[in-house]
Amino acid sequence: MKRCTFCTLWLPTLLISIFTVVSFSVIFILINSSLDAMLKAHKRSNSLTKKIEKMVSSTLNATFLQNDERFLEAVLISNEIQDTIISIKQSDIYDTTSLLASYEHLYKNLISAVSYSRENRLKEAQNALEKVRIYTLTLEEQMKKLDEHFVQSEKEHEYTLFAVMFISGTGLLFIALFNGFYLIPQRVIRPLEEFSQKLQKNEEKYRIVANWTHDWEYWVGKEKEIIFMTPSVQRITGYTSEEFAKNPSLLSEIIYPDDMPLWMQHVKEAHLPNRPEEDAQSVEFRVVAKDGRIVNIDHICRPVYSDNKEFLGVRVANRDTTVKMGILNELKEKNALLDTLATTDGLSGLYNRRYFNEAFEREIERAKRMGTSLSIVMCDIDYFKLYNDTYGHQMGDVIIQKVSNILKSTFVRAVDVVARYGGEEFVVLAPSTPPEEIKRLVEKARDSIVQLHIEHVASKTASFVTTSFGIANCTPDMRLTADKLLKAADDALYESKEKGRNRITFVAC
Ligand code: GH3
Ligand code: MG
Ligand code: MG
Repeated sequence: MKRCTFCTLWLPTLLISIFTVVSFSVIFILINSSLDAMLKAHKRSNSLTKKIEKMVSSTLNATFLQNDERFLEAVLISNEIQDTIISIKQSDIYDTTSLLASYEHLYKNLISAVSYSRENRLKEAQNALEKVRIYTLTLEEQMKKLDEHFVQSEKEHEYTLFAVMFISGTGLLFIALFNGFYLIPQRVIRPLEEFSQKLQKNEEKYRIVANWTHDWEYWVGKEKEIIFMTPSVQRITGYTSEEFAKNPSLLSEIIYPDDMPLWMQHVKEAHLPNRPEEDAQSVEFRVVAKDGRIVNIDHICRPVYSDNKEFLGVRVANRDTTVKMGILNELKEKNALLDTLATTDGLSGLYNRRYFNEAFEREIERAKRMGTSLSIVMCDIDYFKLYNDTYGHQMGDVIIQKVSNILKSTFVRAVDVVARYGGEEFVVLAPSTPPEEIKRLVEKARDSIVQLHIEHVASKTASFVTTSFGIANCTPDMRLTADKLLKAADDALYESKEKGRNRITFVAC
């Protein structure tokens, strides 16, 4: 831009101005020196008239008074007159040939007049003086013309000088007008306006990009000062970008206290010197908004460098993930509910048969691996069909729930799995439980159900609700399968039913 302005504006202006000033100065000097010479010549010609008068009067005195001193004076003056006429001739301003001729005639007659008077030839002296008078008049006439010539020439010179000054002034005025109305508007103002319009458009473009950024974006300088922050920060935190600019530590101040160590660690790593530009660091944390809301932030930042590789700070993008996190949490809860529904029996609240099967396979494998024991307990409500028939299906459901609760409260270890196997049948998976312990627990459950003393008039075993159990306990060898163990427990249950119900049958395999 600088070079361009110099070439297109300053250089031509400078050259035209120099040319104008130099050329008109030369013309001015030439005319002025010529005028000066003329003035000098004019001055000399003015003195000439007086000298001629003086010379004539000296000659007359010399003639009539026979005064040699006067004659000598006249001769000296005549020399001066001749010199003056010759100098005017040399200055080349005026053709002095006729002037010189008249003067010579005058001088010749003066000499003659003086000579005749000395010889007392008065008549001839008078004639010579008459001629002196005539040539004096002629000379006066010629001097008058010379004077007019000088006056005329001086005027012409003055006019020329005025014209030169006028033209040079007009030239400079033209340059000024040309610069003012064409060169400067065309070469400076227009490019500047175009440049400024471009700048304005760019500024508008970046302002719109920045102001419409949905995320909270900012740029922290070398001294941790906020260089720029998008207005979206106010929507997310309630604080304005001006508040952050005034107090650069505001961000640290609003970090949710539990997330502070995480944030401090991130800041330490993100501001390490000489980190490569592409090395983006991210962290998730929460901030406390101005109105007390907790806002989840997904933060990502990277260092920025100038074209000269000078570190310019850190550029940050913060995304408000509060809504997303809310949806995610809701989704997690729903997934957990779905998991529960998929693995739980609705009526009893116990695990369902599907969950039991998975857990059973898992535990069999673990027992095989670890060589530990595994117990399976099958439980069935006695004469439940008759109970339903007597008290109704709904009352039957209540019995299922009550038996479920007792089983749940009996097998309380985290590894125990109590499940509804189907209808009024239940199954318990109890890993690493010695035979005596499992028998004790099952007996406790059976007795607890008896202790409920739920009336069952249709039962052929007792007047209250009872249950039968089959226990299979084993240390699984490599050939043992879930089906075999389950069948052993089912057979044991069958035996309990056969032997009169409300009892336990234990089988070790
Ligand atoms: P046993 O002593 O030999 O076990 O005789 P039982 O009557 O208990 O056995 P059976 O298999 O003949 O009858 C089981 C009954 O359990 C049949 C069915 O109506 C009832 N039942 C199955 N599921 C439910 C349920 O969810 N709720 C209710 N109320 N009854 C159910
Ligand atoms: Mg039954
Ligand atoms: Mg049954």
